Amino acid sequence: QLTTIAGFDRIGEENAFAVLARAQALAAEGRDIINLGIGQPDFRTPDNIVEAAIRALRDGQHGYTPATGIPALREAVCADLHRRFNAEVNPDNVIIVPGGKVTMFAAILMFGEPGVDILYPDPGFPIYRSMIEFTGARPVPVPIREENGFGISGEEMLSLITPRTRLMILNSPANPCGGVTPRAEIDRLVAGLADHPQVAILSDEIYDQMVYDGEEHVTLLDYPEIRDRLILLNGWSKTYAMTGWRLGYSVWPDVLYDKVRKLAVNAWSCVNAPAQYAAIEALTGPQDAVAEMVAEFDARRKLVVELLNDLPGVSCITPKGAFYAFPNITGTGFKAKELASKLLEEAGVATIGGPDFGILGEGYIRLSYANSQDNIRRAIERMRAFLQENS
Ligand code: PLP
Repeated sequence: QLTTIAGFDRIGEENAFAVLARAQALAAEGRDIINLGIGQPDFRTPDNIVEAAIRALRDGQHGYTPATGIPALREAVCADLHRRFNAEVNPDNVIIVPGGKVTMFAAILMFGEPGVDILYPDPGFPIYRSMIEFTGARPVPVPIREENGFGISGEEMLSLITPRTRLMILNSPANPCGGVTPRAEIDRLVAGLADHPQVAILSDEIYDQMVYDGEEHVTLLDYPEIRDRLILLNGWSKTYAMTGWRLGYSVWPDVLYDKVRKLAVNAWSCVNAPAQYAAIEALTGPQDAVAEMVAEFDARRKLVVELLNDLPGVSCITPKGAFYAFPNITGTGFKAKELASKLLEEAGVATIGGPDFGILGEGYIRLSYANSQDNIRRAIERMRAFLQENS
């Protein structure tokens, strides 16, 4: 009988993929399913980016690249961070990785082991907790509350630090709640971190371009005092509608960079070469497609919030970022996972139950509004019919 290391008995997953598989199975049976479950843009990757990948393939870019990524791409990442945030980042601190998740995996693996505490947002991206548990570290949830606009409270996060804390994970704009943490909270957090020099910070900024209502995305790169312990996670998946390309980047402090480079050499060698050429075009080519996608997400956001607030037993605060709405459904009388499951099976609308994102997710469901305005209208009409019949 085979046994694996204990971590594999604790590893979790992302239920969004299971819901996607179920939605696809129902659709294959001929059911009309509207998918507000999976968190990916419904747009195609812009043509100029696709063409750059094709060009790279035709030009014979078929081999390994440096494990840390093509130098021109690492430089393009730094130029982009400078253009958008006035941030000074050295290409020697940037690594190109096969997706945002890989940065998460590397960072959590680097700090997690039994006896260690790792702070992560709850509700939050489910892979944080899963990976922390995998390493044997103790996952310490940082509550993300509706009354704070689903942003992080710097003070509360600081209060959860113990002498065993080695890593804290931040995510703004946030999945699944759509919250954007304001600068004042991050200022407070960073000031308090001066007393905890042993704590590294993983800042997941993958939704950094998806902010609305004039809200500002605050990058942790803005704080020189923590640069020697900051891991910045970002990538192309959401901004450029490139989830299937498996591409991301991260910025690491000098002391960690060689460790992550070696992990790359051991585990994935490099990111596929044509995707890296496409990523150069994404960052250096025209940005109009990004602006158009964000404007469309903004219109859908307003629509989805207005329609949700008109449903019996449902209330939804206006999310300031990402492309998710996280309505409070306690007034419907349903438990969140039961509601999500019935909406899919009986009403043909895929959503994700809040508990799939953490203990504090009970009472909420997540809707991804990365779908057309027509589909959003149809989906919420179906929800209305379902709730009227079942309450
Ligand atoms: N971080 C957050 C908060 C996400 O929501 C996601 C994807 O859903 C990722 C990271 C992973 O992105 P990627 O597809 O590039 O691995």
